Amino acid sequence: SADNAYQYPLLIKNLLLSGKRYQPTQEIVYSDLFRYDYRTLYQRICKLAHVLTDAGVGAGDTVAVMDWDSHRYLEAYFAVPMIGAILHHVNIRLSPDQISYTMNHAEDSLVLVHDDFVAIAEQLTEQLPCVRGYIQLTDEAKPVATSLNTFGDYEALLEKASDHYKFPDFDENSVATLFYTTGTTGNPKGVYFSHRQLVLHTINGAATLGLYDGQPLLRSEDVYMPMTPMFHVHAWGVPYIATMLGVKQVYPGRYEPNKLVKLYRDEKVTFSHGVPTVLQMILNCAEAETTDMTGWKMVTGGSAPTLALAQQMADKGILFHTAYGMSETCPLLTLTYLNPSEQALDMNDQLALRIKTGIPNAMVDLRVADPSGNDVPHDGESVGEVVVRAPWLTQGYYKEPEKGAELWQNGWLHTGDVASIDEAGVLQIKDRIKDVIKTGGEWISSIELESLISQHPQVAEVAVIGIPDEKWGERAYALIVPVSGQTVDAGALQAHLMQFVESGRINKWAIPEKISVVSEIPKTSVGKLNKKLIRMQVS
Ligand code: ADP
Repeated sequence: SADNAYQYPLLIKNLLLSGKRYQPTQEIVYSDLFRYDYRTLYQRICKLAHVLTDAGVGAGDTVAVMDWDSHRYLEAYFAVPMIGAILHHVNIRLSPDQISYTMNHAEDSLVLVHDDFVAIAEQLTEQLPCVRGYIQLTDEAKPVATSLNTFGDYEALLEKASDHYKFPDFDENSVATLFYTTGTTGNPKGVYFSHRQLVLHTINGAATLGLYDGQPLLRSEDVYMPMTPMFHVHAWGVPYIATMLGVKQVYPGRYEPNKLVKLYRDEKVTFSHGVPTVLQMILNCAEAETTDMTGWKMVTGGSAPTLALAQQMADKGILFHTAYGMSETCPLLTLTYLNPSEQALDMNDQLALRIKTGIPNAMVDLRVADPSGNDVPHDGESVGEVVVRAPWLTQGYYKEPEKGAELWQNGWLHTGDVASIDEAGVLQIKDRIKDVIKTGGEWISSIELESLISQHPQVAEVAVIGIPDEKWGERAYALIVPVSGQTVDAGALQAHLMQFVESGRINKWAIPEKISVVSEIPKTSVGKLNKKLIRMQVS
């Protein structure tokens, strides 16, 4: 009968089976505040499940987390979906209005809120009729005083709860997590992932990170510390992968470069990931000067790493790789993979290969398509849009299927990224379709120009956008942050770029006519260049 039929739903709870077998005494560390082992992690997840259930959270309800990277957040990664509820990762760097929009849209019923965000929560609570109560997350002996309707303090509630919980089986297609894109235009849009999708993404991630370059990036002996926030696309899904493998995990709280480097050193971290701007901050901070980073395995992505950044990492002995993905894709789609003869090259000769966007991971069906949907030639030059199919892509935008009409076309997720792909299958993202500079009938990649400009020794940071131009349609315009204590001017930069015109790499009209020297370049909530804001400020 159907009752006896073999069924094993792909549920997040089953990711917890193996870690504690491999490394029962391995540690979960929260900054310099907490540490405990995998057995305790499991007990605390059970306790949290009781606390949530007692607070009235049931299957299908949404629970929001407003926290920096922490062991408690990791516990919520598991406990919330394991009772059949949906975990809403609140992007705490959005504006209060956007936060309130996303929390109402998600219909959050309970909010786990760190002391640092209590003031925002208080300010928003009137606008959030869906929220029935709050649980306070504190790093201090006592939580901050608040007018919020709280069930109490997380630790105190866990203390009282039983450390056994019988987690039910249910449909693997149930929604497990939900979060919102940073909303480059209009309101943020929700993307959501099922248990099945997250389990497959986790197993795939472990396989992909494990096959690496002669030296696996992540296995159970490693020590993991994220440098992409847990609220942003599940910290690229790595907390789930690390937990499945029984890896020691270090959660740094709020990101401060010196603290991150100190934790790296003190906890003997071996594997991290971060967007290029965060890695740049790590390399430039005071603590970095006196810290040996040899052998730190690093994945960067989220935007294109420059050769200058790659060089700086290599000089520090960091073993670095590039990944590609987006909120809509859970996110992992590609990772650098060097074949044995490429691995044998001198590190400096590997850098240009390592900053490419990588090879699509197992199970990822990825194509670069022209406007009629046909594959562009795999010659490393022809460009088209990246379209993809994989088991872990968002099925649309949460509660707004009409907004997904552009995302999903003919069964392929359309990324909005322009790329080429070469004979070996290596992808190279050139730009976002909306950031490409269209000048005199040519398309210029803003990313490529940024990469060339960043090779100028006086340039610390650069962003390039297209600005309207009567004659050419658009012209490139560069915002530059000079290396501290130095200056750059348009003439010097144009002279620097001429060498690439002479070598045939770019056309003369790609050279920005105007540059602005600034002390800071606007960034998005997750530390990427905020080209939308730059465009608004310039126009
Ligand atoms: P947001 O859209 O808010 O920036 P995402 O994290 O979803 O948030 O951004 C995904 C986008 O980031 C991709 O569509 C792509 O344009 C860019 N991106 C991600 N990884 C890379 C990479 N390795 N190289 C170049 N661009 C990248």
